[in-house]
This record gives sequence, C-alpha cells and structure tokens, in this order.
Amino acid sequence: MIEENIKNILEELPPGVQLVAAAKTRTVAEILKAIQAGLTIIGHNYVQEAERSFEAIGPEAKWHMIGHLQSNKAKKAVSIFDMIETVDSLKLAKAIDKACRNINKSMPVLIEINSGEEAQKAGVIPEDAVSLVRQISELENVRIMGLMTMGPFSGDPEHARPYFQKTRELFENIEQANFPGIMMKYLSMGMSNSYRVALDEGANLVRIGTRIFGERDYD
Ligand SMILES: *Cc1c(COP(=O)(O)O)cnc(C)c1O
Repeated sequence: MIEENIKNILEELPPGVQLVAAAKTRTVAEILKAIQAGLTIIGHNYVQEAERSFEAIGPEAKWHMIGHLQSNKAKKAVSIFDMIETVDSLKLAKAIDKACRNINKSMPVLIEINSGEEAQKAGVIPEDAVSLVRQISELENVRIMGLMTMGPFSGDPEHARPYFQKTRELFENIEQANFPGIMMKYLSMGMSNSYRVALDEGANLVRIGTRIFGERDYD
C-alpha cells in the first residue's frame, strides 16, 4: 500500500518537485517502507518523534522539521534535521544559529508564513515576512532557502488557492529583493488534499502524509 502510494505520487509530480513524507505518528517500519519505495525526505512535527526515527534509520533519508519548533529544542533539532521548514521568529532563528555555531553546521531553513493570518497558527504574517527575512539573513549559521505555508484548513482544496498564491507572490518579492546570503529555492506548500492546487501555484516541495500512509488514528 505505502509502496504503491509513493510510486503513484512520485509519477504524478512534475520534474523539480520534491516529496516530503509527513510522518507524524507513523512507525519506523512504515517510514522504511516509504524509503524503499523511493522516498528521500521525511518530515516530522516533533523533535522527540524525529529523534526516534532518526536513530533507527539515520542519514539514509533527509530529515525536515515541519512542525512548530520551540527555541529550547533548537540544539537537539540541529543535530537531527537537514532542513527546518518552520522558522517564524528572530528568536527561534537565533537559537538555531547558536546551536549550529557550536557544531560547525549551517542550517537551511524556510520561513513559515501564516498566510491565512490566523491567530492560533504558527508562522509570520505576510506583511512582516520581508523584515524578518532581512534580519535572519544576517545570521551566519542559518541559511534561508525559501518559504513554507500551511494555509487555513478546509475540506475544499480550492479554498487554499488564494493563500498559496499570496505565499508565492511573497516568495517572488523576496527573491527580487536579492538579500545577500539567502537563496530562494524552495516553496513548500500543499498536503494530501491540496497538493495539486499547490503545484499549480508553484510549490516545489509538497508535504504529504495521509495519501502515503493512510488515515491517522490521532495527531
Ligand atoms: C500532517 C502534516 C502534513 C500532511 O498532512 P496530510 O493531510 O496527512 O497529508 C503536511 N504538513 C504539515 C506541517 C503537517 O503537520
């Protein structure tokens, strides 16, 4: 099942688009199946859960943090992840920078955009994004490589389109601003029910859980 799902999704993705398996709540055995089927990037929402799979699987895959990261977990996070997709404050970026400096690493990050401007959601609101990017770009051990957004939850993927559009426009504005030290390469948008719309709107990283592994029992 997992193998078949991965194969189908990979066949459907246009060239240049990468698949991130959103692996929250999944077992190591399930994740290994996905890797055997050709998956190369595993996304986790919690540092502790990522640590468990990382210890069992190791650098055979790339590891992305896709959940909200607390500054006090930065040290552990930088020892596991190849990319942190959810940087949304200078405080967090500084904690990542410091933890990376200690182990001589440079961490690729995406800036998470709260494209729906929802009070309960993580991410920086669009109008504050450029200024946050400028500040973070000055940190030596953190490398901004693009943007990530969730968008408001809705059963209808078309409802996500304007939020994906808004995030892509922001991506292009930041790219044109040409801040030194950053490289706008990745636009991470779209989940199981919305990745087709996200691809239309320019996503080149899609984060998919349910369509790979099946329904989750809990979140
Ligand atoms: C769970 C999750 C996904 C994938 O969700 P599905 O609907 O299961 O595909 C994508 N991104 C983030 C940040 C998630 O937490």
